[in-house]
Amino acid sequence: MQAGKPATPLCDQFAFDAQWRAAQLTLIGLQAFSRDQVDLLHRRVLDADTSATIVDRFYLQLRRHAQAEELLSSFDIAHLRERQIELLVGFGNWFKDAEYFESRARLGVTHARVGVPLSLYVASVGLLQSLILEVVLERLEVRAERQALTELVVKLASLDISLATEVYHRARLEAPDRSARDLERQREQLRRQLERDSLTEVSSRTALLREISAAIERANKTGQPLVVIMADLDHFKAVNDQQGHAIGDRVLKGVASRIKGALRSFDLVGRYGGEEFVVLLENTSPHTARQVAERIRRRIAEEPVNTGATAVQMTLSQGLAPYREGGDVGSLLKRADQAMYRAKAAGRNCVVED
Ligand code: GH3
Ligand code: MG
Ligand code: MG
Repeated sequence: MQAGKPATPLCDQFAFDAQWRAAQLTLIGLQAFSRDQVDLLHRRVLDADTSATIVDRFYLQLRRHAQAEELLSSFDIAHLRERQIELLVGFGNWFKDAEYFESRARLGVTHARVGVPLSLYVASVGLLQSLILEVVLERLEVRAERQALTELVVKLASLDISLATEVYHRARLEAPDRSARDLERQREQLRRQLERDSLTEVSSRTALLREISAAIERANKTGQPLVVIMADLDHFKAVNDQQGHAIGDRVLKGVASRIKGALRSFDLVGRYGGEEFVVLLENTSPHTARQVAERIRRRIAEEPVNTGATAVQMTLSQGLAPYREGGDVGSLLKRADQAMYRAKAAGRNCVVED
């Protein structure tokens, strides 16, 4: 046993203490059974060979049940079979000990965790019990022994069922806590996904629109100038057509990172569409914005984008729109877009200001 690690963590967690265990054994009527009777069960019925036969019959029958079959098909059956034989060989051994309760509770927890419904679990314990009883009746001729072992098997199966029911029940009581935490984590993950474009890792369109809107509000208050740039890759479709979509994706990643590298830390770049990026420049005059756009243009045009396999020469056409009072996100972006189209018409790889 490792230092500091309780030997029976589930018993501790679920408060299956000595008193609770004794009460459970008494209720089921197992207290009266002795170690010798369990030994007899294993000698005459649950030896390794017979356990394997019982387990094979068990799976054969279980697989006739649609829901069980569906669950089983997602597991490594050979491994499950070995584990089940092991469990049968240990069935009832030292059943008065905390470790026995622990191992049976663990079974319940494992089944609950992988999504086996309690009804199915209980039914399968019942099935296993009847398969064991078939062998008991077949092999034990002495009536008293047969009766004692029958009772023992039924009672040990009852103990399994009672522990499983308890464990499932408590796991459900504790679940709301966990699901609230999971929900919070999922929400945080989703929030992060919504903020960043997954391919290029610059701001997402959602984050971009929100930030432009907030920047417009600030500009209205402070009267500071504000500029947006719409940047669209030139003839990008040809990259996809000639070199494949995967290379196209890498080009987009490389371009996004170059645009970011050409900006000041407080500027924002986001992916507006497929091969369109928008740059938000707050507290920036049109004159400075033009210099920023020129820097971006040069950074893209002066060196091919390395995609690992090849280096792809790209250029950008940019439309620049200074914010005008009374405008909104939509009108600002529309003006930047129209300016960008004029840059395309002017021969691409250039900057046009609205
Ligand atoms: P122009 O100079 O007029 O802008 O020409 P273009 O080829 O860049 O423009 P067009 O709008 O014809 O094509 C844009 C292409 O961008 C088409 C589309 O398949 C591609 N595209 C959009 N999103 C992605 C993406 O996420 N990955 C890749 N690889 N390609 C994309
Ligand atoms: Mg485009
Ligand atoms: Mg384009």
